[in-house]
Amino acid sequence: MEEQRKAERRRGEEMRPPPEWLIQHGLNRTNVDAVHTGECWAAAKSGRCRTVTRQQAIEALRQQVPACTHCRPDTALGILD
Ligand SMILES: [Zn+2]
Repeated sequence: MEEQRKAERRRGEEMRPPPEWLIQHGLNRTNVDAVHTGECWAAAKSGRCRTVTRQQAIEALRQQVPACTHCRPDTALGILD
């Protein structure tokens, strides 16, 4: 039975979508607080994130939206100055 559980877990991981990027809004929806990688726990905790494309994440960082200090999307995107 143990083997079967492991196999199911492996299948579950394969079905997971590829990493996405997240933009976190401020309390005021017109503000943008931070850019995150799709796996960031801080983003999940905030509950105020929407999924964006890689290009949108790059654009946001170029527009001076702060990169999350936990998941470092700027490093992940390779756009550190
Ligand atoms: Zn983050």
